[in-house]
Amino acid sequence: MRSPNWGTIRTLAQVDELQFVHLGTSDIGRLVSLGFDRLRSLRLRDLRASDLAFLGAFPHLDSLSIWQSAKVTSLSGIQALQGLRELGLSELGPLPSLVPLSALEDLQELYLSGGVWKDQKLSGDFSPLATLENLRRLTITNVRGPVDLTPLSRYQHLERLSLATALFPTGEVARLAAAYPFWHQQRPWLHPLPISRGVYGCSRCGGEQTLLLLQRTRGIWCERCDADKLSRILEKFEQLIQQCGSSAP
Ligand SMILES: [Zn+2]
Repeated sequence: MRSPNWGTIRTLAQVDELQFVHLGTSDIGRLVSLGFDRLRSLRLRDLRASDLAFLGAFPHLDSLSIWQSAKVTSLSGIQALQGLRELGLSELGPLPSLVPLSALEDLQELYLSGGVWKDQKLSGDFSPLATLENLRRLTITNVRGPVDLTPLSRYQHLERLSLATALFPTGEVARLAAAYPFWHQQRPWLHPLPISRGVYGCSRCGGEQTLLLLQRTRGIWCERCDADKLSRILEKFEQLIQQCGSSAP
C-alpha cells in the first residue's frame, strides 16, 4: 500500500502473517508500536530500506520473504532472526556478502534468486551458507557472482535442490551431483522439450528435442538425430560425477 491505512492495520495486530508492498523504514517503527512484534511470517515487496537492521523488531519470525526490492543492498540485521526456518530473497540490489545468513542455524528452506529478466548480483562466495546444517530445501537460480559450489555440498538433510546448472562450471555441478544422489538421479541438467507443449520439433526430423543445461555444450539436441553425440556428452559428465564422488572427503 502506498500510504498505509494505519486505522485498518491496527485492527490486524493479532494476525501472525503480514504482506506489505512499498514498506519504508518509518513504517516499521509504527508496525512495532501497534503490537506486530510477535509476527511469525512477513512478506515484503519493494522494501524501502538499504539493510535489514529493522528485522530485530520482529524476533519471532519463522518465515520471511523479501523480493523485488532493489534498494536493499545488505543483509545485515537478518542475523537477529535466530528462529527463522524459511527465507526467500529475490531481486534485491547487488549484495556484498551472504555472511549475515551464516547465523541462521535453524533455517530449513532457502530461496535465493534473481528474476526472469534480471540476475541477483552477489559478491563474495557461498561459504557463509555452509553453516546452515539444518537446510532441507535449497534454491539458487539466476544468482551471478560466486561459482564455487563446495560450500553447498555437505548438507546432511537436504531433500530438494534447485540450481541453475548452466550458470556454474561443469565440475562444480558434478561435485553437487556426487554429493546428493537424489539430485543426480533427477538429472536437472536435462530438460525435455515436448512438442505437445507447443515447442517446435527438430528441423531435420521433426522429432522431440532436449535442452542440455551444462556449460560449454550446445543447448538444444534432437533426441533422434543427435542421440549418439548427446549420450557421449552425458556419459562423460557421468564419469566426472563418479570422479568427484571418489575424491570427496
Ligand atoms: Zn532430429
